Amino acid sequence: MADAKEAATTQPMSTLTQASGGRADFPLVFERSQPGRRAAHPPKVGDVDLEALLGAENLRREAPRLPEVSELDLVRHYTQLAHRQMSIDANFYPLGSCTMKYNPKVNEEAAKLFQDLHPYQAPETAQGALELLYNLQHDLAAITGMDAVSLQPAAGAHAELAGILMIRAYHEARGEGEQRRVVLVPDGAHGTNPATAAMAGYAVKEVPTGPDGEVDLEAFRAALSPAVAAVMLTNPNTLGLFERRILEISAAAHAVGAQLYYDGANLNAIVGRARPGDMGFDVVHLNLHKTFTTPHGGGGPGTGPVGVKAHLREFLPVPFVAKREGEAGAEFYLESDVPRSIGRMRSFYGNFGNLVRAYTYIRALGREGLRDVSGYAVMAANYLRVRFAELGFQVPFDRVNMHEFVAQPPEGLRTLDIAKAQLDYGMHPATVYFPLIVKEAMMVEPTETESLETLDAYVDALAEILARAEADDGYLPGAPYHTPVRRLDEVRAARQPVLRYGFGEAAG
Ligand SMILES: *Cc1c(COP(=O)(O)O)cnc(C)c1O
Repeated sequence: MADAKEAATTQPMSTLTQASGGRADFPLVFERSQPGRRAAHPPKVGDVDLEALLGAENLRREAPRLPEVSELDLVRHYTQLAHRQMSIDANFYPLGSCTMKYNPKVNEEAAKLFQDLHPYQAPETAQGALELLYNLQHDLAAITGMDAVSLQPAAGAHAELAGILMIRAYHEARGEGEQRRVVLVPDGAHGTNPATAAMAGYAVKEVPTGPDGEVDLEAFRAALSPAVAAVMLTNPNTLGLFERRILEISAAAHAVGAQLYYDGANLNAIVGRARPGDMGFDVVHLNLHKTFTTPHGGGGPGTGPVGVKAHLREFLPVPFVAKREGEAGAEFYLESDVPRSIGRMRSFYGNFGNLVRAYTYIRALGREGLRDVSGYAVMAANYLRVRFAELGFQVPFDRVNMHEFVAQPPEGLRTLDIAKAQLDYGMHPATVYFPLIVKEAMMVEPTETESLETLDAYVDALAEILARAEADDGYLPGAPYHTPVRRLDEVRAARQPVLRYGFGEAAG
């Protein structure tokens, strides 16, 4: 205790606060700038008439306001910033629902092989790349039990939109577009599910969770009608529990003509062992940056392939990679001639570098390896659930869970405080306050890539945090003590946001 308190007084307080007018505690790259200083000296352009070459309207009238720094200044700038990040390469990161697993470096090597490829290159000259995409479409279809896959969407949420637009197109093609106005979503769903349905023009209706943590089947049946266009589910659900009645759910949904959408963010729990296609889902999205180890890049770019059963194939976004017999044998090409397609979801053919990484991961592990992924992920999460209960955390649905579980802190403690305290231990907190149906929720997902020693160190850290909280009322509300930025005044930040660097005082 004493040392945390002491650290609080001896450590310089972060200056990224209202009091300092929003100044950072190390110089911005703009503040390092000195007129004329350069990191690189490209050769001078000779006698080129830029106006004739590019057109007068494309030439700048004023120089851009860029920082003028040496290479070393630049390297320090980015390195210092990078060291302030929590990252999977440096920190334990049990962020539930997000599957923050280690990204093997061999994936990067593979992605590098394609670094000279250009998106405007003619397909004849990019056959290897197209073949890779074709094989990945095939592998993801096999893994999920679907008939066709598009690699286009740029993230899970983007793929949800593609999926629901395909479902809408399907109902419209059958003359039921007007009649089907509703999308059913469980009350524990990720926010992107209802947001997607609303963006596609549907009314969203919540389905309650029953006392066992699964979809309340009676309430679900009561909500079904010929007005329902789709049901969006994840399995295991956001409590980390397997929906054991999934076959009854899918049969009931199909009986009223609704389509079943699988949010694949939780695929890590079942990959290699069970397939959404076999559970009755008609559309599936995958988050390659979750299950398939392409990095979560600061909120993007992610990659969210979307897979469908055969009856929805004609609505897939274009283009996708197809194969045909050419003069010189099999050739791969980009298929855009799909009359009923919902169209393009983004530029080019997807986030190619990440598609290479995911393909590398799948091929490196193979069928048995992918099965091990879900096995170890589920075992690690169950180990932590039991250890959490021993520490005095409450586990609202205390049964064997899948790849993640939801816990609540011991009586009287707040999840937010525990999350902040954990930062001092160099660990990223779990997901907090999600799902919304559990008060003070902490959603913990260790993934298969963490060792037993790391899991134990996590439990030890939490035990120490609880002991400190017990011994000193001031400890938790004051945490974190060792981070560059200490606890922020969230109410004040919301009411009086400082939105301009260095102008806090002036802006009032
Ligand atoms: C992450 C997640 C999403 C959204 O995926 P993004 O790739 O972040 O857009 C949707 N549903 C669940 C359950 C998730 O965990």
